[in-house]
Amino acid sequence: MPITGLYGPDDFAGRPQGQTTSPRAAPPRQGTSLPMPSLEWTAEVERATAPLYARVKDVIPPIEWPLMAPTIHAVNELKAARGAVILAHNYQAPEIFHCVADIGGDSLQLAVEATKVKAGIIVQCGVHFMAETSKLLNPDKTVLIPDSRAGCSLAASITGADVRLLREKFPGVPVVAYVNTSAEVKAEVDICCTSSNAVQVVESLNAPTVIFLPDRYLATYVASKTNVKIIAWKGACEVHERFKGEELRAYREADPSVQIIAHPECPPDVLAEADFTGSTAHMINWVRERRPRRLVMITECSMADNVRAELPDVEMLRPCNLCPHMKRITLANILESLLTLGEEVTIDPALAERARRSVERMINLKN
Ligand code: SF4
Repeated sequence: MPITGLYGPDDFAGRPQGQTTSPRAAPPRQGTSLPMPSLEWTAEVERATAPLYARVKDVIPPIEWPLMAPTIHAVNELKAARGAVILAHNYQAPEIFHCVADIGGDSLQLAVEATKVKAGIIVQCGVHFMAETSKLLNPDKTVLIPDSRAGCSLAASITGADVRLLREKFPGVPVVAYVNTSAEVKAEVDICCTSSNAVQVVESLNAPTVIFLPDRYLATYVASKTNVKIIAWKGACEVHERFKGEELRAYREADPSVQIIAHPECPPDVLAEADFTGSTAHMINWVRERRPRRLVMITECSMADNVRAELPDVEMLRPCNLCPHMKRITLANILESLLTLGEEVTIDPALAERARRSVERMINLKN
């Protein structure tokens, strides 16, 4: 059914202005820096990184490898020396996702894996809310983000005060927050969800109506899959909302055999044209199982590279929408992060306690 209400900042006359929480990251600690290693392209670097290049040879030209391999080699050496683990989202560039990350995946996979990590230092290659989620689940570990300016248009669209205003307007209605929100927002809601489990989480509440925030398009998709009435927030992902249904029709007209798969953060006219809709993890599994000859992946552009590196027999047609926030994370600033132990993600402990409950409630849901 359609969503039953759509609210945003303009719908609340008394809304405090300009109070979206900015990411909190501490500067590097004094006395912890290590010297910059050599970043020369040597025979030893070439030999040590050859197995890594084999993973990405279909998406990174050989002429570019000598430029990035020395940094990849240095990151992997430092990671071992620091006892660190690198988590990377599916939208990270292939040289990060396939060559330095220990664990890759979507928000849910990273959140779950973060709880199993033994290392004392987590370097989060993703955007700030993901690093915050890792910190929530690992309060005693050092969580680093290579660039704390890596934000998200969804997380920036809503504040904790907005959630309180929604609760006043709809007393007793439970609130579900997509993980693409700040810790401040997670602290105000009943439970979190990802695009992998959003319908399951909404239905787990056994309520006739649920407030679902902040992505209006994911909310619309969830509403189409359940009988629960959905009240949504007017947030959107600046990457996925740029896709158009007519673009997809043009791909299909050019080659009627092409398969199209899309992320549920896309607008409804895009999803209507897709052969399959799912989270990044579900999309990857779909490609692994179906092995289509030609494929259009309607999501952030690096994911197509990461899948093609793994499955070179699948030809990707790529409408390339890059997330500028995800692309703030680079090999150079991952190296810097490991050298200086910056930027460390910090969350007020009392707020973290409340936010953690919403994330853990999601993780503990039975599948
Ligand atoms: S792709 Fe969209 S939802 Fe993901 S981090 Fe970028 S802006 Fe946020």
